[in-house]
Formats: sequence, structure tokens, C-alpha cells
Amino acid sequence: MELWKKILLGMVFGVVVGSILGPDAEVLKPIGTLFVNSIKMLIVPLVFCSLIVGITSMKDTKKMGRIGLKAVALYLGTTAVAISIGIVLSIVFAPGEGLNMVASNPDAVAKDAPSLIQTLLNIIPKNPVGALAAGNILQIIVFAVGLGISLVLIGEKGEPAVKVFEALAEAMYKLTELVMKLAPFGVFGLMAWVAGKYGLDVLLPLVKVIAVVYLCATVHIVVFYSGLVSTLGRLNPVRYLRSLTNPAAVAFTTTSSSGTLPATIKTAREELGVSKGVSSFVLPLGATINMDGTALYQGVCALFVAQAFGIDLETSDYITIVLTATLASVGTAGVPGAGLIMLSLVLTTVGLPLEGLAIVAGIDRILDMARTVVNICGDMMVSVLVAKSEGELDETIFNDTEVKRDIETA
Ligand code: ASP
Repeated sequence: MELWKKILLGMVFGVVVGSILGPDAEVLKPIGTLFVNSIKMLIVPLVFCSLIVGITSMKDTKKMGRIGLKAVALYLGTTAVAISIGIVLSIVFAPGEGLNMVASNPDAVAKDAPSLIQTLLNIIPKNPVGALAAGNILQIIVFAVGLGISLVLIGEKGEPAVKVFEALAEAMYKLTELVMKLAPFGVFGLMAWVAGKYGLDVLLPLVKVIAVVYLCATVHIVVFYSGLVSTLGRLNPVRYLRSLTNPAAVAFTTTSSSGTLPATIKTAREELGVSKGVSSFVLPLGATINMDGTALYQGVCALFVAQAFGIDLETSDYITIVLTATLASVGTAGVPGAGLIMLSLVLTTVGLPLEGLAIVAGIDRILDMARTVVNICGDMMVSVLVAKSEGELDETIFNDTEVKRDIETA
């Protein structure tokens, strides 16, 4: 059976067992704690290595200069907007409100929120090794980006180190896969505990989380992406939206941007008229660093967890969420479930209880389907805008509905 089905099953069993046992279900909680601790173990090395690999894979940026810069700016800018949409709609719909959950380790949550200036000053680590040891994610991200850029700049000399980080990142992906095998049990333990303690009321908020993530995804694609296509690109957004059908279907079912890449490249070239040069550079780059769907999901889930545990977030927390999720999305691998691990990063950075993560884990696959669709739609939108601005967009193909029909019936 596929892992996500096992996780869903673990969640269902957990809810059933928890409702039967009531408060006694607490005895099952350690199984969940084991899972949460295993995820915590992954965060620092995973983020550090995969961010460096993400940055060093942009080698072509130097060669392709302007195109690379435009693409990266659009990728990061749209990602920040995605999280903001996630945050705003989660404030409006408050999916976690009224859950009244209590973190098992309140000390880990209670914190004096640093001022905004302090947060910004603190993101530069005075001692990067200290940042790694303390698990200060924002500082780790800043250092990893600096190191990654420097490795690219020193060229050949940096290659051995790049290879080491690539190997370590690969190993961390593997370890993640292994840890995720624990997820069905961990989710079972935590859901049993949650359902035993709070009753079945906990399910409705999860349905709300799904609804809010799907709403954000729709708004981001239909309003924001289309808006950019028509304002910045001065192109017909309906043509863009219609072209998304095939790659979106692949993304929805595979939940992998990397796996969807062949479909996005084909569609961008054949239906949107993006040149070979732009599509073969901008789209693979996007599948590696551009994860708007993942980012907006992190915004929604962070707010859900804060609301569920009754933790008030300050302005500086929101800024931290936007910053962390934007940077973390660069390091998110385009594979199923990667966003969940990155969510633990955002929660840790803001000081939110990681127990919330295991609750979301039960429905993660359903959320992953939506966020992967957004991820690849963003890549395609940026490829169109960059191609247009470089004079590399064949507008006869873009506007030709006949071409689209031919492909559909082929
Ligand atoms: N599955 C997503 C993707 O491949 C990443 C994630 O888990 O958010 O784009």
C-alpha cells in the first residue's frame, strides 16, 4: 500500500482508538513523540544541505545572467505573495480557532517575541556553527545561501565541496523517506491522543484546513498568476489558464514538481510558445526553487497550529513566517511530502509546537496535491513572462487556439 494511504489509515485508526479510549489514549502519545523527534532530527542537516544544493544548481544563472535574475526575482516575489495569501485567508477563516489544544511542552513555546529590528539583525549568524548547533533556522538559511553562492563563484575549486553537499543532501532525502515510513504510526499515536483528549471536534478544523489551502491555491493561480500574465505580460490570461490542464493533472496525481517537469516543458513550448532556450532553463530551475504552493500551505498550517494552540502571533512572527517559508521553499525538493518536513522548519523558527505538524500530517497528501499544482503553474507563468520580456515568446502559438485543440485531440 502507498505510504499516504497508510498515513490516512493511521489517522483514521488513531481517531477511532482515541475516541474509544478517551483520555487514556495518552499512553499512545509516545509513539507520536518518537515520530516528531525523528522529524526534528532531519531539519538542520536537510535544510542546510538541500539549500546549498539548490543554490549551487543555479550555476547557469551566471551564464544566462539576465534571464536567471529575472526568473529568480519572480520566483521569490511570487512565493512571498503566496504565503501572504495563505496567512490572510487563514486569519479570515481561522481553521484552528476553538480547538484549545495545549502544547505538551509549553516552555518550548513560550517566548518573548523579539522586535522586528532584532529579528532582522539576528538573521546573520555571528557563529554559523553555533547556529547549526542551536538549530537557528533563519541563520542557517542565510549562511547556507552565502556558502552556496560562494561555491558557485569559485567555480571549479568548489566542485568537490558541491559534490559532498549533493551526496549529503541525497542521503538526507533518503533518511527523510525512511523517517516518513514511521509516519503512519506516529500519526496514529498523535491522533489517538488528540481525539482522546479533545474528542471528534478536532476533525472539522482539519476539513477547514483543506478547504483554506484549496481556496488559497485557486486564488493564487486564477487571480494572481492570471493577473501577472495580463498586466506584466500583456497576454490573454485565459490562454495561460487553459494550457494548465495537462501538467496540473500530472502534478495533482504525482505530487511531484520534478516528476511533472516533462509535462510542463512540453506544454510551455507547444501550447504557450515559450522558446526552447528559456523553457529548458527556467522550468527546471523553477521545479527546484519555486514552490509557491508549498509556501502558501506553510502559511496556512502555521496559522492553523497557532490558532489551535491559542498562541498569539505578533507582526514579527508573521514576517518570520514569510521570510522562512520563502527561503525554505528554495530548499524544498520537488518530491512528494517534502513540504511537510519544511513545515516543521517554519513551526520551529516561529516557536510553534511541532505536535501540530503530526496532526496536519494525516491530511498531508490531500494538501500536497493542491500545492504541487500551484508549484508547477507558477513555474509556467514565470517562463511565459521571462520569455515575453526577452522576445522569446512565440505569440502566434500562445494565441493559437487551434494548436491547443490539435494537441488535445492528438
Ligand atoms: N510535493 C511538492 C512538489 O513536488 C513539494 C511539497 O511537498 O510541498 O512540488
